[in-house]
Amino acid sequence: MTKTIEIKVLPKDLHNADFIKGRAAKKAGLKADNISDWRILRRSIDARQRQPFYLMRIELTSAGQLPAEPVISDNFKDVSDCEPVLIIGAGPCGYFAALEMLELGLKPVVFDRGKDVRARRRDLKAIQQDGVVNPHSNYCFGEGGAGTYSDGKLYTRSHKRGKIKKALQLFVEHGAKSDILTDAHPHIGSNKLPGIVANMRATIEQYGGEVHFDAQVTDLIIENKVMRGVIVNEKDEHFAEATILATGHSARDMYYLLHRRGVKIEAKPFALGVRIEHSQSLIDRAQYNQPQREENLPAASYSLTTQVKDRGVFSFCMCPGGLVVPAATAPGELVVNGMSMSRRDSPFANSGTVVEVRTEDLAPYAKHGVFAALELQKAVEQAMFNYGDGSQRAPAQRLTDFAKGRMSKSVPDSSYIPGLYPAPLHALLPQGIYERLSAGVRVFGKKMNGYFTDDANVIGTESRTSAPVKVPRDRATYMHPEIEGLFPAGEGAGYAGGIISAAMDGQNTAKAVLRWTVEG
Ligand SMILES: Cc1cc2nc3c(=O)[nH]c(=O)nc-3n(C[C@H](O)[C@H](O)[C@H](O)COP(=O)(O)OP(=O)(O)OC[C@H]3O[C@@H](n4cnc5c(N)ncnc54)[C@H](O)[C@@H]3O)c2cc1C
Repeated sequence: MTKTIEIKVLPKDLHNADFIKGRAAKKAGLKADNISDWRILRRSIDARQRQPFYLMRIELTSAGQLPAEPVISDNFKDVSDCEPVLIIGAGPCGYFAALEMLELGLKPVVFDRGKDVRARRRDLKAIQQDGVVNPHSNYCFGEGGAGTYSDGKLYTRSHKRGKIKKALQLFVEHGAKSDILTDAHPHIGSNKLPGIVANMRATIEQYGGEVHFDAQVTDLIIENKVMRGVIVNEKDEHFAEATILATGHSARDMYYLLHRRGVKIEAKPFALGVRIEHSQSLIDRAQYNQPQREENLPAASYSLTTQVKDRGVFSFCMCPGGLVVPAATAPGELVVNGMSMSRRDSPFANSGTVVEVRTEDLAPYAKHGVFAALELQKAVEQAMFNYGDGSQRAPAQRLTDFAKGRMSKSVPDSSYIPGLYPAPLHALLPQGIYERLSAGVRVFGKKMNGYFTDDANVIGTESRTSAPVKVPRDRATYMHPEIEGLFPAGEGAGYAGGIISAAMDGQNTAKAVLRWTVEG
């Protein structure tokens, strides 16, 4: 007999397999000794009551072994002699498109402007320690894309977009812990992701695909509205019938290039704001109702949202036990983001806290046409940079001072390695954004005990939340409506927001390419 049941488990019993099996058997009306196999299907935390507990969905059987999950890479085939498809960008979208092609019988040829994941690390160190931003290799550009040196959160709200489980399974087959298949809020961490990404590359190459680094696509070969190929590093031509454009939301030069080449692009709403950092212990106390987080509970997270003057104000990309990192992609700008290690054990908790920016809010930038949102993004990032000393030290303010619009004399300790200095963020942000953030953080203070405190840092700028430009595509074919053979995909084209949704969009785009190239 096989049954699926749900049980509650206290954090202290999280790793006690005998206890969990016994309790599951009892709930299923079976004797523990008769259970021949069992597994956890889903695990989440319920912290609404005074004593937090894990809720586990468990499948158990008294009839032999539970069926094993299929191994996706068993379906990969040698694609060396198959139809080549160019993929611009080795982020989650590009790499998952490439892996999908190994199943579909297409040969992925990936170009990335940045370096392989190991070499990229040196450039991250240069940003952190010397304030030097390499425009091709940074927290957004390079192997694995923006998803590599991140928090590695793997949850998405886009359940319709594809099979999340398949994407998670591929992470596991390339080195992630199998917990991510069952956790309600799976996460990998910056210390593990680079190895996983390198394993994915090894798979792509092993089955006959190609991955090229230091290979910036500098031009598109378009003839009579047909995409013929790309030019790499201003000299090397590569041709194929289909090209997937997966360059992420920070490749501004690609948006300009598309515009110059007459490829239709559109302005897109996005969100802009700041990153707010608290101590992790404060967030734990608020979320777990305990003076101190008990053993086996992860660093607590939060998700806060409100409406102020008809615009959404919300927390975004919350990194429990994480670090704030400098995520600029060019010299002369100040951009921050968040990441964490797999153990999420830093003493800080940070999240982007942003205001939605709609097309009608972009009137002051209207002269820039489709680049209105991008120019606003750039202007704020540059204003934050120019206020400082030319380094990647970031402007900051105590949360309560920020809300009141007054300078802080000093700012609290932070995880941000280049350092913070007090600055009038209330004056550096556009007025409409500042006013809504100022009201929004007060509302958040009412929703979460201790949130609105002068011991929290507000740090500028959280501006790379999503693409400020959309590259249109047909809903059914995934192809650009005017350029045959061009498949815009992932976050940069406006079809994803996060690692998993970008990965799934890559997989779906690869299938769309197959339908077009091979199946006609
Ligand atoms: C610090 C940080 C932390 C994050 N944390 C999380 C998280 O925890 N969870 C989550 O879901 N999301 C997170 N994100 C967002 C997530 O990383 C992105 O949503 C995701 O990576 C988008 O995938 P993509 O493949 O569409 O684009 P990207 O990951 O941006 O990849 C684009 C790639 O294209 C390359 N490229 C750009 N221009 C060119 C060119 N002209 N020629 C060749 N190559 C080019 C770039 O080098 C890059 O590698 C984080 C982002 C950052 C920056």
